[in-house]
Amino acid sequence: MARKLTGDILVVASHNQGKVREINDLIAPFGLKAKSASELNLSEPEETGKTFEDNALLKAQAASKATLLPALADDSGFCVSALEGAPGIYSARWAGEDKDFARAMRNVHEKLCETESTDKKASFVACLCLAWPDGHYEIFRGEVLGNFVWPPRGEKGFGYDPVFLPEGFDKTFGEMTSDEKHGWKPSDLGGSRQPLSHRAKAFKLFAEACLLDY
Ligand code: IMP
Repeated sequence: MARKLTGDILVVASHNQGKVREINDLIAPFGLKAKSASELNLSEPEETGKTFEDNALLKAQAASKATLLPALADDSGFCVSALEGAPGIYSARWAGEDKDFARAMRNVHEKLCETESTDKKASFVACLCLAWPDGHYEIFRGEVLGNFVWPPRGEKGFGYDPVFLPEGFDKTFGEMTSDEKHGWKPSDLGGSRQPLSHRAKAFKLFAEACLLDY
């Protein structure tokens, strides 16, 4: 049985404004407001983990220890089968200091061409970790399967969205609105609608375990 989250402020252990905005939109219906690591002047721990779970845990625990409040961290990335899961946990790093995702996507394309593989399978993964100051934590993982497409399509998303075509769809994440990409909203909890994006899938598990009282 997961520990329930109480209170109205949730520390979000991220300096990435896009991520904090997406999480804030998701927690707002539960009466929670996100306070980001930047607002709280928290330093960014080095992501030394070998998995998404490890990195989400170390970010959430660092923020929770520093603030003495429960903290939520998201570690996510884009994984390409023919590249043995790369860029994976290094997805942000492939874009370099200047966060140039056009270059990161080109890099994936060039590395795929070098393999001469016809396998275009790819996925997005998101791990959410909620950590408490006493060391307790919960981890939730969401994954969406699809294919790498080249050239990039769509201007709506961020990061690797324009080169990811989710299975069963003819629009890339970059061509979808945020509602289409997540495919689900907190108000769908308890209903039959299922989330599409990795983050919405992980968030649904988190909300069911830690935000809802059954
Ligand atoms: P993190 O801050 O180490 O978790 O970095 C995650 C990186 O994965 C981001 O910088 C993006 O490049 C990529 N990523 C994660 N989720 C998404 C998504 O929903 N769309 C596009 N790129 C994503």
